[in-house]
Amino acid sequence: MDRTDLTCRLGIDLGGTKIEARLLTPDGSELWRHRCATPAGDYGATLQAVQALVAGAGLALAGQRPGAGFTIGLGSPGAAGPDGRMKNCNSTCLNGRPLQADLEAALGQPVRLANDANCLALSEATDGAGAGAAVVFAVILGTGVGAGIAVHGRVLHGPNGLAGEWGHNPLPWAEAGDPAPACYCGQAGCLETLLSGPGLAADHRRHTGQTLDAVAVAERAAAGDAEAQATLRRHAHRLARALAAVINLLDPDVIVLGGGLSRLAHLYREVPALWGQWVFAAGATGQPVHTRLLPALHGDASGVRGAAWLWPAPA
Ligand SMILES: [Zn+2]
Repeated sequence: MDRTDLTCRLGIDLGGTKIEARLLTPDGSELWRHRCATPAGDYGATLQAVQALVAGAGLALAGQRPGAGFTIGLGSPGAAGPDGRMKNCNSTCLNGRPLQADLEAALGQPVRLANDANCLALSEATDGAGAGAAVVFAVILGTGVGAGIAVHGRVLHGPNGLAGEWGHNPLPWAEAGDPAPACYCGQAGCLETLLSGPGLAADHRRHTGQTLDAVAVAERAAAGDAEAQATLRRHAHRLARALAAVINLLDPDVIVLGGGLSRLAHLYREVPALWGQWVFAAGATGQPVHTRLLPALHGDASGVRGAAWLWPAPA
């Protein structure tokens, strides 16, 4: 690629069912978007699909801004290990593959890569709910629980690529009645097993014998069902404890929630009303906790926008 004006940013969100691409200007406006189905279980076809999206973005940009080019960032479900090979991807054909190196070879330009939770953190820190904040802790509460950390607009990775993997810490300040379900990671009682959508549904089933998904539990709670309301209270109480531990460790300016359960509006009232009792000094002295808990401004688009911002916009 012989373009010196790489001021636009292409973000690609490589999901289990679809691959989405958006081309952003330096101020975050969207120039072009496209999505395609993820070739299930086929690594070579996945690379080709990404190449086709990049080519499509190139054509679109050439038509709008002749001579301009773009950087490429990719959000993926798992993470690259220190050897560059992918791990923990639910699209298992990626696991063990040097995705970044293979894409760079295919595309002839550098590609930056981060997992979906890190992309959420970066998207929201750049021009979302955490814009202007020094430290953003972003949580995906969905089918699983992931989290990422952005510091001064950059993703914190760490030597193990694990920064923010709070979903596989245990629930702190244990109380009688806290279950410790087995987690796929090999541990028991991980936050993911209690705070995710399936975790909330399993908790409701343990207490009531009813098999409902998290959305149905929330709908019943809104309709006045006392058992469903109790399930949401236990969930909010556990989330408050889990985030109080984050505040004690990292003291982020903003905690952003993304994923399906981030649409539960009661969390933004109830969790900050609860977490002070476990935040160091606040519980004993009644000092206010200044951390803000906010829903992701860009919603489901945060993955693809955060991937684009893996290359920060020029100042
Ligand atoms: Zn786990």
